[in-house]
Amino acid sequence: MALALGVMGARAVMAQNAPVAAAPPLITKGYGRAAIDIQTSRANPGGVFAILVRGARWASVNTLLDGRRGSLAIEEGKLFGLVPLALDTEPSEHKLSLFFPGSRGRGGATSLMVPVTGVARPSRPRTLSQDALAAAATQTALGHGRFLLAAIRTRDLKAYHTGPLRPPVDGPIVFPFGGAEDYGMEMGPVKDGLMGEHHRGVDYDVPAGTTVRAPGSGIILLARSLVFSGETVVIGHGRGLVSVLSHLTHVSVREGDVVNIGTAVGTSGKSGIGALTPHLCFSVYLHSLNVDPEALMDASLWP
Ligand SMILES: [Zn+2]
Repeated sequence: MALALGVMGARAVMAQNAPVAAAPPLITKGYGRAAIDIQTSRANPGGVFAILVRGARWASVNTLLDGRRGSLAIEEGKLFGLVPLALDTEPSEHKLSLFFPGSRGRGGATSLMVPVTGVARPSRPRTLSQDALAAAATQTALGHGRFLLAAIRTRDLKAYHTGPLRPPVDGPIVFPFGGAEDYGMEMGPVKDGLMGEHHRGVDYDVPAGTTVRAPGSGIILLARSLVFSGETVVIGHGRGLVSVLSHLTHVSVREGDVVNIGTAVGTSGKSGIGALTPHLCFSVYLHSLNVDPEALMDASLWP
């Protein structure tokens, strides 16, 4: 209780000293009798726009942002969706278009400019052993990377999960999504689906053997050992949302299993050449785009 009050006190002080916000977190635009609410609090490179359409009877709405299609669908009785932003999105105004279905193929559309705000992200040095680098350059590693990408790109319209994701372990995040990975060299072809110049997930500092739980309900798309990410579990939550849990010691689910949010899927560890110490790495993909798991766990985005 004392801790909670302390945190609230700190927030109050920060709010007092904060400069006037540059952009409102919520943008509202009317369309006929409907209203479109766009939550921009997580609209950063690698983040999301949360869009709610009120006062309308459509079952779905399509979106277009930076040439990428997305969609809103009925979730808990509300027409809602998250539109992902690629990590290399320019921090500036972007055109967001919404396409509304109509009778006999005659739908409507509206567009508006929405702000994407840049965020400062840390960097960390990464030193891989010669053995690890050699393993990363093999055909096996390349094949595993492609295999992982195929799982991440699984299209499943069924909604196994609604609402925010839940942290897969209890523990502090020690390195955020999007942080720079400084290998001190050009990584080139040794990159795979999870390895690159930027961190593809969030790292939790937890001891090896910590129970790892499904961050959301879904179907196990992949549960096996891969060169870079080690013992890996990929969960498809439906509607283009996929979670990846890496470097496990033990996996307790099989491909094709359907799990509920909170179901134990294994225990954490440091398997795979990408793990230098025991931790849990949690990555999220939305419509095949790698996005910040912290945005998907932010309950304030949901109506
Ligand atoms: Zn990681």
